[in-house]
Amino acid sequence: IRPEHCPPDVEQLGRATWTFLHTTAAYYPERPTPTQRANMLSLLRSLPLLYPCSHCASHLGTNMQEHPPDVSGRVALSRWLCERHNDVNVRLGKERFDCAIEKTDERWKDGPSDGSCD
Ligand code: FAD
Repeated sequence: IRPEHCPPDVEQLGRATWTFLHTTAAYYPERPTPTQRANMLSLLRSLPLLYPCSHCASHLGTNMQEHPPDVSGRVALSRWLCERHNDVNVRLGKERFDCAIEKTDERWKDGPSDGSCD
């Protein structure tokens, strides 16, 4: 494994970015204001333009054209993002994640009910 002080490789950057995006989606309002929706849309639309892994960014851009972001509320957004992450998982031969809100909330907001993350 690479030492902590090294710049991130594609895997580390990916894990950090998914952590940020899924957590932000999990805490996005149930009923966002028009301004909150617009801000979330611009965050997501910036990714294919700015994400510093160019082939990742380009795949994401194509994928987002077929599946435009749903910023109508946290349940829809969490699902949309989970599905985009699954598209990458499938392309890389990784397992799909169950995109039910109970599962994304458990992973990114609440932790498992056995209290192991409390
Ligand atoms: P990650 O895929 O980073 O996932 C982290 C954790 O998220 C997992 O341990 C799991 O608990 C959880 N998780 C997994 N799937 C989901 C889901 N669907 N919904 C919610 N939670 C989930 N890498 C490439 O090699 N090529 C690419 O083209 C590429 N494109 C990318 C595009 C974007 C926008 C991003 C953010 C990353 C991309 N990556 C790409 C990186 C890749 O997705 C992984 O982050 C990296 O391979 C490390 O994988 P990992 O197995 O550690 O877990």
